[in-house]
This record gives sequence, structure tokens and C-alpha cells, in this order.
Amino acid sequence: MIRLNNIFVKFDQFEALRDINVHVKEGQFYTFLGPSGCGKTTTLRTITGFIEPSSGSVLMRDQDITHVPIEKRNIGIVFQSYALFPTMTVYDNIAFGLKIKKFSKSDIKRKVTEIASKVDLTDEHLQKAVSQLSGGQQQRVAIARALVTEPAIICMDEPLSNLDAKLRVQMRAEIAKLHDRLGATIIYVTHDQTEAMTLGDRIVIMKDGYVNQIGTPQELFNKPVNLFVAGFIGMPVMNFFADCKLLLEGGKYYAEIRGVKFELDAFQQKALKQNGQQPCDIVAGIRPQHITVGEGDLNATIEVSEMLGSEYNLHARSNNDEVVMVIPTVGLDVDVSMGKSVNFTTKPELIQLFDKATGNNLVWFDKESADANAPVCKNYDF
Ligand code: ATP
Repeated sequence: MIRLNNIFVKFDQFEALRDINVHVKEGQFYTFLGPSGCGKTTTLRTITGFIEPSSGSVLMRDQDITHVPIEKRNIGIVFQSYALFPTMTVYDNIAFGLKIKKFSKSDIKRKVTEIASKVDLTDEHLQKAVSQLSGGQQQRVAIARALVTEPAIICMDEPLSNLDAKLRVQMRAEIAKLHDRLGATIIYVTHDQTEAMTLGDRIVIMKDGYVNQIGTPQELFNKPVNLFVAGFIGMPVMNFFADCKLLLEGGKYYAEIRGVKFELDAFQQKALKQNGQQPCDIVAGIRPQHITVGEGDLNATIEVSEMLGSEYNLHARSNNDEVVMVIPTVGLDVDVSMGKSVNFTTKPELIQLFDKATGNNLVWFDKESADANAPVCKNYDF
């Protein structure tokens, strides 16, 4: 549906996008996620046609649209600000694009009514001025306006960021339902990982104008290619243990974390062997949800113990490391109150192994598809 090939965007000397390659299939929901300034909006604006790339091409259904003007691209756009006409009625706002395309009055009426019902706007809403609607209703008008011309794809740039927390959750569900019902191809920019994870079939993680990883939410959570992705996806943030070692003894790989040796599982062994991996300094990553307390040889003192009903969030100190643990309350027979000392461990297959020198995941980093020019990702202090 949409193919971005080797897209570079330069503003004067500043490279905002560096070799972006993304391939969105018909009906997919792609979310672009990353910190402020990473290039999400610039990517979206390149797809919609507000920006011409300095090099590279944009294809839609195999047609090169790199130099096709916005209005001829057949893309529906929903902006963060909605960009509605506040004094016009909801009906006229939705009908606007159809009038420009010179549809007959009766066709306009039919299409507006149809699309309004799909986004739960009633006849009563249609007659109101946009300024009389709530934020959530305005957002639905913006979506209806983007959909009514039956675009090939819909691009949304932080469409929920002006809504309060409760409405955001509701509208997130509405957008998911709409995608399911309409089967539309959607490209969605956000800096909110919950939005990206819950909505996207695929997430594109960006940093400093580079794509770091493209994958399903599960892939990004379980197989992060580098420290940046590992630290950006998941709540609470992954625990990183600096200055650990990957050992190779008797033909087997081990991760050594604070003097405790974990024999890695068969899959990790195979991947490391295939890469001809030599012993090296690593940063070991363990997700808070992957820690078990009351077992193992690692030790920590609980500093804060938060009881959340079904689980505890524990903030602990293990020598110089801060360790966050999310522990189910059911079946827990260890005292995890503040000040207590606990043993903890994890399963070896749940330990992520990051090369200390590059920040890349020794098991999941894909040398073939990775951008050789992308900067190394050593900073694990997120
Ligand atoms: P945010 O989440 O804050 O909206 P973003 O990931 O969408 O961030 P972009 O808006 O794509 O980031 O910007 C990427 C980089 O390009 C930023 O450093 C920004 O300052 C720069 N940039 C964007 N538009 C322009 C422009 N028209 N002229 C110069 N620099 C620009």
C-alpha cells in the first residue's frame, strides 16, 4: 500500500530522516513511535505530501507518488489540532472535501450521513457548530472528514493528545473498532507507547531520524534489537545491569550478572554460536515482570513496596543497581515489605544481552537489515 524507500529529509544541513525504509500492507495499522524530535511527524508529512524528501521515493500501490501534490494523493489526514472549521456545522465540515471534489448534493448527503453513523455522530450533532461539541466529538468529526472521501489510507498525527485521560482511552478503543470495521490502512504517529502498542499491528520505533526497529508489539517487547528499544518499550522500564559479562566455557554461553552465572537456553546458545559471538562485556536487561523473588542467588533490599491488588511493584536496591520488580500477589509467600532483603532471579531465556560497546542485542539484533550508519546506542540511562 505504502512503501518508503531510502527516504532522507534534510532541513538545511540538519538530517531529520535518515534512510527510512517502511513497507505498509493494505489494511495494516502502523504506528510510528519515538521520543520528541525523532522524526515521526516528518515521516508522516512525507507520506501525505507536505514535505518532499531530499532523496528516496514514496510509492502507493506501486505508483511513485514522491512528487504528486497532497490533494492528488488520496490520503485522509487527521491532525492533532483536528483543523476543523469551528463556526461551520459538523455536516459542512464533513462535506467539505466532497464539495471540493464536486459531488452532487444528494451524493454528499448520503456519504456524510453514512460516515457520521459509522463514527456515532447523530443527525442532531450534524446540525451543530463544531465549537459546540466536546473534544471527543470533534475528534470523531475530524475522523469522519478524513474518511468520507474514501481515501486509500488514513494518516493520523497524535489525534488523541488534546483529550483528557479518560476520553483518550475511550477514543483509543473507538479507533481500534473503526479500523476493525472499515479495514482501512492507517498510519498513526504517537509518542505514547500504550497507544502505539494497543493500536498498531506493527510499530516503527524511531530515534534521531533513524528507524531502530519495526515489529509487532510482542516482538518489540520480547525481542528488542537494542538498548534504546528495550528501554523505550515496556512499563515499568526494563532493568539494566551494566558491567556484566557474556562468558563462553566448555562450548556453552553464560550471562554473568553480579557474580551469578546463568546458563543461557538452547535458542540463545544457537543464535550466539551462529554469530560466532566471542565473550564480551554486556549490559544485561531483565524486565520487571520477569523477576521471581524468594529464589536464586541475586539479592536486593526492598526500598519501596507498592501493593496494586493483583501485583506488587517493588523498588529495590541490589548493590549499586536499582531494580524494579513486578510480582504477582497470588501465591506469594515472601515478605516484601520495605526494608526486607530478598533473593531474586529470572529465567535465563528472559535475560536480554546487549553488547556493551554497541548497545545491540546479541541475540536479536539483525545485522543484515540494520542500518550500518545508525549511531551506536550505548546510553542505557533512560
Ligand atoms: P514530536 O513528537 O515532538 O512532534 P517528532 O518525532 O514528530 O517530534 P519531527 O516533528 O518529525 O519530530 O521533527 C524531527 C526533527 O526535525 C526535529 O529535530 C525538528 O526540530 C526538525 N524539524 C521538523 N520540521 C522542521 C522544519 N520545517 N525546519 C527545520 N527543522 C525541522
